[in-house]
Amino acid sequence: MSVTATSVWNNCLAFIEDNIQPQAFKTWFLPIKPVRLQDNALSIQVPSKFFYEWLEEHYVKLLKVALRKELGANAKLVYIIKMENKYGNNEPFTEKIPSSNRSTMAPQELDVPITSKNPELKNPFVIPGIRNIKIESQLNPNYNFENFLEGDSNRLARSAGMAVANKPGGTSFNPLLVFGGVGLGKTHLAHAIGVEIKDKYPERTVLYISAEKFTQQYIESVKKNTRNDFIHFYQLIDVLIIDDVQFLSGKSGTQDVFFHIFNHLHQNGKQVILTSDKAPVDMQDIEQRLLSRFKWGLSAELQVPDYETRVSILKNKLYRDGVEMPDEIIEHVAKNIKSNIRELEGAIISLIAQSSFNKREVTLELAQQVVEKFVKNTKREVSIDYIQKVVSDYFEMDVATLQSKTRKRHIVQARQLAMFFAKKFTKASLASIGSQIGKRDHATVLHACKTVDNLAETDKQFRKYIEDLNKKFT
Ligand code: ADP
Ligand code: MG
Repeated sequence: MSVTATSVWNNCLAFIEDNIQPQAFKTWFLPIKPVRLQDNALSIQVPSKFFYEWLEEHYVKLLKVALRKELGANAKLVYIIKMENKYGNNEPFTEKIPSSNRSTMAPQELDVPITSKNPELKNPFVIPGIRNIKIESQLNPNYNFENFLEGDSNRLARSAGMAVANKPGGTSFNPLLVFGGVGLGKTHLAHAIGVEIKDKYPERTVLYISAEKFTQQYIESVKKNTRNDFIHFYQLIDVLIIDDVQFLSGKSGTQDVFFHIFNHLHQNGKQVILTSDKAPVDMQDIEQRLLSRFKWGLSAELQVPDYETRVSILKNKLYRDGVEMPDEIIEHVAKNIKSNIRELEGAIISLIAQSSFNKREVTLELAQQVVEKFVKNTKREVSIDYIQKVVSDYFEMDVATLQSKTRKRHIVQARQLAMFFAKKFTKASLASIGSQIGKRDHATVLHACKTVDNLAETDKQFRKYIEDLNKKFT
């Protein structure tokens, strides 16, 4: 019997079926069609890009083993993605993607002068090679400008990011600090700037790192007595991107070392890009001298996207995943998930997954169920920081003012409301609420909650405040 795509695939299926749950087999393998066999490469057709990504993420090892059993060590797999276009009248079209073809960022090589005081300069990321060290940029090429959609909510930050990418170190946006709430695109934008710089200036050394990892590396270097190497390493970077710098709060050792690295880079015309979940004025336990550096450049806010932007973000995501969905469903999701783009995407992904699993079409009803669950599950994740921010914004004051020791009545009331909502919407103890809202004790928080309860009954204006704010958290 001759070997055909179908015979090879059927043998693979038999092997796979023995190795995974029946439900998963039915969902993810039965819909696949073998299409072609050529030079050890088997082409299989999958129903959507989402499907392909799922296979690559969850079953690629199994697929490889199965295929090698059939076709030998050189076996290759090619996916053909069929765009079903259920809702439009366009012709279905296909896209071919080889297995595991995700492009990665090329490693960057850097020649370290031999005269360097410390010839054993250690790169905290990779192999201790001497002289010529390879620095992985740690950039994710999927986070680029092209798929960072523009809207009123991000226009300033996005165009500042573009400007920096065009002329790293050569604009007055140094450092560029991007700030905004969770899931609004800080990490994506930070990567996009780095990815764009690598495209335009391949010879520049770009490094992305989270403040958390930076801190771990620093602590490690202190333990191993290699603090100087650590500093030297970072001083070699042309474009340093540090994500979530609020993580440095209270960590004075790491702040100190970052201060020195920052000064060195800045003086040498290197670019620094930072992200944070708060504006510099609202950052706590960050040394003044570091805060003042943050303010040297530009602080640009990522705000909550408006409805139109949310719709275009969703459409773009679906387009990239090769999934079609009726407008009314996209609109339903965009209308109901407002404050966080990550959740917006999460809801759509879970919608696609549900319909794949249950072999159901994506209907408005299914969308309503998924969105409802999503909204319910994420509601409670209101943090005390967020509550303080919302209450301060509502009364048009800074968080610092809300937390201050002043006895001015409207400020006291704002503070008491923040405590009241922190009690209501978080699981934090009275003591912890007090310490986070202007370093008060638990008795003060208890008193605040009682006062708010009383005023809610007696003061109409105050009741309105509570209702307005309540809406913002629920
Ligand atoms: P943050 O770092 O602010 O918490 P992320 O950068 O992780 O947020 O973004 C959350 C998700 O939302 C990511 O999947 C990102 O790609 C997506 N996203 C954010 N902003 C945009 C945008 N303007 N266009 C498209 N996708 C976006
Ligand atoms: Mg982030």
